[in-house]
Amino acid sequence: MQGQAVRDLVIVGGGPGGLTAGIYAMRAALDAVLVEKGVAGGQMNNTDIVENWPGTESITGAELSAAMAAHAAAYGLPVMSREVVEVEPGLDYHTVRLDNGDEVRALAVILATGGRPRQLGVPGENENYGRGVSYCAVCDGFFFRDRTVVVVGGGDAALEEALFLAKIARKVHIVHRRDAFRAGKILQQRVAETPKIAVHWNRIVTEIVADDTGVTGVRLQDTQEGGSEELAAEGVFIFIGFAPNNALVPAGVRMNTAGFVITDERCATSVDGVFAVGDLREKYVKQIVTAAADGCVAAQAAAHYVEEKKSGR
Ligand code: NAP
Repeated sequence: MQGQAVRDLVIVGGGPGGLTAGIYAMRAALDAVLVEKGVAGGQMNNTDIVENWPGTESITGAELSAAMAAHAAAYGLPVMSREVVEVEPGLDYHTVRLDNGDEVRALAVILATGGRPRQLGVPGENENYGRGVSYCAVCDGFFFRDRTVVVVGGGDAALEEALFLAKIARKVHIVHRRDAFRAGKILQQRVAETPKIAVHWNRIVTEIVADDTGVTGVRLQDTQEGGSEELAAEGVFIFIGFAPNNALVPAGVRMNTAGFVITDERCATSVDGVFAVGDLREKYVKQIVTAAADGCVAAQAAAHYVEEKKSGR
């Protein structure tokens, strides 16, 4: 690896944050590369319809992912289809190690690794993943045509996916642990206007029940009265928020107690030249549009950082 070139910037992750960072980095004439282990687009690929990307009233997550990737490619952003196994900060440059043993050296790193669905942690959840338990209605909803499904959660994701599932399933039961949804008002209104959806307030899932054929229902506990009941269903879709993909965040980068990376308004972390964007960082609203905004900010800040580093300031 002796004498290997040091690039200006390496972007880890190809969701909306990473791809937007790539677009802005190319526009700033940085020698940048993006590393992505899967399909470009990140969680957007698991989203049915996106209706809040400004300028586009309705677009599928897959289409928006492909459009962003094509936009970055049009600017000539190099993309490595590899898994990053380690990010090691250094004084002169940072090193990003790949699963094939190669490494990429760069003055600046943008971490754009996003997040993943949180799990309930109840009996039957892991055992029945793929046998009725799912974290992605777009991926698995098709298998529940004219069946009964349970959606767990009360945020935007739960309600959006419940509405999607209502187009396929016979009946959708939303199980929420409180007596009010966290989701936005428009989604709440749509759920209330969808007769196929029934809401079970103040209930937590204590077990996912299954037999040899797969999931047969969920065991619910009433958080107010304390009683327990079983709700029959062939599918259980869990949307209770997500956890940051922070396994690659190097030591020295400050995170909050939930594991989200703490940044300043330039998306800079506590380590010089290491930036974080999108769902990985601690922030108020996690949306495609805010991830993209982070990508813009981080690329601009990285360009400034690289310029200063090169001029020895
Ligand atoms: P979220 O907003 O954090 O909502 C998580 C929901 O799951 C909450 O209702 C929460 O209940 C519930 N919950 C959490 N842990 C639970 C547990 N152990 N057992 C039972 N219920 C549990 O997560 P999200 O819906 O995935 O959304 C994440 C972010 O993406 C949000 O910022 C959201 O606005 C955004 N998003 C936006 C859209 C859109 O605008 N179209 C679509 C999807 C996601 P409590 O309410 O009681 O805490």
